[in-house]
Amino acid sequence: MGKKLLIDLLSLREMESLPADAVLKHDKFSPSFKTIRELATFQFTCRHCENAPCIQVCPAKALDKDENGIINRSVNLCIRCKSCITACPFGTMMDDLFIVKTSGQRFFSLEDENDLEDFARLFPDQAVRIVDRDENPAESIYKLGDMILIKEKIWQ
Ligand code: SF4
Ligand code: SF4
Repeated sequence: MGKKLLIDLLSLREMESLPADAVLKHDKFSPSFKTIRELATFQFTCRHCENAPCIQVCPAKALDKDENGIINRSVNLCIRCKSCITACPFGTMMDDLFIVKTSGQRFFSLEDENDLEDFARLFPDQAVRIVDRDENPAESIYKLGDMILIKEKIWQ
């Protein structure tokens, strides 16, 4: 099975501020710097609206859907105006979703177990933790890449 990082989006939403945001760059997984939280939100929290209000409202044409219908944000085009966050009828995106601190920000490698453990240690109350298990939709735990599991209630 192997060690994985389990991120509980339900718990993160309850926290007033996050002690860290894992920023990843992984060519196969994400061609630009994004947080795991953003990728997880668009994959699992988002309801994948047919005529997505977030895409329609974006003044920078920074949002589109990939071949699987998952919203993708172009980091280069996005001006972080938050119009999409406001327009989403389901409150999918947390207000700070696109804020990435570049100065003093540590980058955590998805392929380095030590990095993942260091990241998990920053979070209290098991919101982010290292596990040795696989995904299980019955427990609302889903796979996001080889080293990441996400806990989220998915809209059916
Ligand atoms: S409007 Fe909200 S729920 Fe709909 S596709 Fe956009 S982010 Fe997802
Ligand atoms: S924050 Fe603004 S520019 Fe960025 S994706 Fe959302 S609507 Fe588009």
